Amino acid sequence: MIFSADHPDEALRSKAKGMKQILVERGLWPESGKLLARCYDGCKTDATNCCAEKTLSLQPDFHAQKSLIAETIEAAGHRCIFYPKYSIISSTFGVQQSITAELTATTHGKDSSILSQKHSRQLIC
Ligand SMILES: [Zn+2]
Repeated sequence: MIFSADHPDEALRSKAKGMKQILVERGLWPESGKLLARCYDGCKTDATNCCAEKTLSLQPDFHAQKSLIAETIEAAGHRCIFYPKYSIISSTFGVQQSITAELTATTHGKDSSILSQKHSRQLIC
């Protein structure tokens, strides 16, 4: 998602592309030439092209993109698991402790098992 090193405009060479540039290249920029970068009050749940951010978020490659921290952790040979953002600490703390203990044991070569289905289900809730 960067301009090529031989881009005709020297100021853009090897620079990150913006949302508009990406949408234009994919033929998703509206012919009217106007599109909000982001809906002020949040996108409607069924909207698909209300703003640039929503349109990009629905693109398969953007949707499948892992975060830089997840890629970095996995490239180092570890698994990256995010705990629920908003959790009730008293009810999930025990689950988090057991997962952390299992991952610690895995990291140190004591156990090569993967997370159990039980833990995965509890994290999704
Ligand atoms: Zn929107």
